[in-house]
Amino acid sequence: MEEPPLNASQLPPGLRKKIDYRLIHSTRIHPLPSEPSIWIKREDELSGSISGSKIRKYASLLPYLAQRNVKIAGAIGGPNSNNLVGLAQLLKEYGIKPIAFIREAGDKSLQGNALLLNMLLDKDETYFVPRSKWSDVQQIGHEILCSNGAKYALISEGGFEPEALPGAMTLAESVLENERQSALSFRRIYIDCGTGLTAIGLALGLDLLDQKSSPPREIVVTLIAGDQATIELEYDRFRELIQEEIGIKLQSKCSLVFRHPELSPKFGSVNKTLFKRCREIAKQEGLLMDPTYSVKHYISMKKDLSERPTSRESLFIFNGSAIGLMGFQQRLEED
Ligand SMILES: *Cc1c(COP(=O)(O)O)cnc(C)c1O
Repeated sequence: MEEPPLNASQLPPGLRKKIDYRLIHSTRIHPLPSEPSIWIKREDELSGSISGSKIRKYASLLPYLAQRNVKIAGAIGGPNSNNLVGLAQLLKEYGIKPIAFIREAGDKSLQGNALLLNMLLDKDETYFVPRSKWSDVQQIGHEILCSNGAKYALISEGGFEPEALPGAMTLAESVLENERQSALSFRRIYIDCGTGLTAIGLALGLDLLDQKSSPPREIVVTLIAGDQATIELEYDRFRELIQEEIGIKLQSKCSLVFRHPELSPKFGSVNKTLFKRCREIAKQEGLLMDPTYSVKHYISMKKDLSERPTSRESLFIFNGSAIGLMGFQQRLEED
């Protein structure tokens, strides 16, 4: 197995050919108004209607589905899933019929992503799965998709598929481009995580493209969902997968640090303080952040920096979207 080049600006051709680069671009960085040593990476600007870095994952997942001539793609998620909203849009663009298997909500009002899904999907593209049967959703999905008779795929919750990894790794290409353009070298990068695939893609991308990095970069992962042990296992598993695919040996050049959110840590939960902070961040930083991921991630980053200060610049990845605000209009009005 070959050693990787010490410093490359692009992923190797074997990975690049799996990615539809027309879907994505490099996003800009700028200093955070309240704290100029923290730079913010505007992944929220990648797409107007797909949350944060998600379209990077789709940039390799969708070409894979199209190449295999998939006609129907099942997708699994909760009623507020950013992933379902994103996939619904892109699958339609690619001419693949989406069928969403959505966990039945206690509150059936059409707000936020539930409304967007209702707008994006026909009745026959939507299956509500009772909570009591949620553990069987994969099997239920396969049965329903099978009965259509067309070639299908079933995409895991959160889009957590190996075929989404090359696209996720483009985040590292973009970070390194930012560093070159701004003559910076971020020793600490803050990223949020659901399934962890975006964070793993960033880490593996840096492992591959930035071999000369020393000491190792620290990637601080805010665990909005998921757990540390699983993500560490997947980081290793995906490293082996990529190594095999491109025939290049990948040494870990990143150390992963994990933090649970301070505020409203349960995934999907919100509270009054969170909305208050959401409004404060908008006023102070000029950033419209979604409460469920990005505000929690921001607060966690500030806490981490107060506990473990650093003299170097840090990078905060704003991996969310202002459309994540739309389910919370009334709660956000309260002052
Ligand atoms: C989907 C999403 C993530 C998590 O991405 P993973 O690759 O599943 O970890 C993080 N932040 C926001 C705002 C998202 O929508």
